[in-house]
Amino acid sequence: MMRYVLCTGNPGKVAELRAMLPASLELLSLKEAGLPADLPETGHTFAANALQKARFAFERTGLPCIADDSGLEVEALGGAPGVDTAYYAGPQKDDKANVAKLLHALQGAEDRRARFRTVIALVEAEGEHLFEGEVRGTITREERGTNGFGYDPVFLPEMSDLTFAELDAVRKNAISHRGHAVWKLVRFLAGR
Ligand code: IMP
Repeated sequence: MMRYVLCTGNPGKVAELRAMLPASLELLSLKEAGLPADLPETGHTFAANALQKARFAFERTGLPCIADDSGLEVEALGGAPGVDTAYYAGPQKDDKANVAKLLHALQGAEDRRARFRTVIALVEAEGEHLFEGEVRGTITREERGTNGFGYDPVFLPEMSDLTFAELDAVRKNAISHRGHAVWKLVRFLAGR
């Protein structure tokens, strides 16, 4: 069985990825791999951050390492919050405060277009690979729904009447930025 380290301290993401990756792949959490829960991410792009985390873990374990970085880019805010999405309202990474700040920043704005992006990095002895996913949509004027996490209650994906927080996990994964990136990774790994 091939072992991979999944470089995230977020248990929700581990569960989401476990459900999508083939059972023939053994996924180790950061803890199981003996790594700290928070890996350094000081880059200015999603790709740089994903690579930084996967390289950090690969250098210490020698195992193939998978890391992701995601965020929200809002058209009217010039692409912000971008790589600062988790810390938009401050270092405490507070979902509620982040959403409130976003709604405030877009108060009265007609152009509410946004997209979520994910970049997944795979770093292994044979080399480095990047897998990207995105989903376009708009930011609602108020929160709707209770599923999911982060900015889900205010993100209305294109061609949907329901926000991410009103969709169940299966429907969200089928169209989400992370879902698209993970499927690219899965196809790559399955092709081996
Ligand atoms: P991360 O890099 O995936 O940990 O995400 C960075 C930030 O983007 C966090 O604030 C998350 O809440 C937000 N984010 C990433 N993916 C999603 C999503 O699918 N729904 C809502 N928020 C997300």
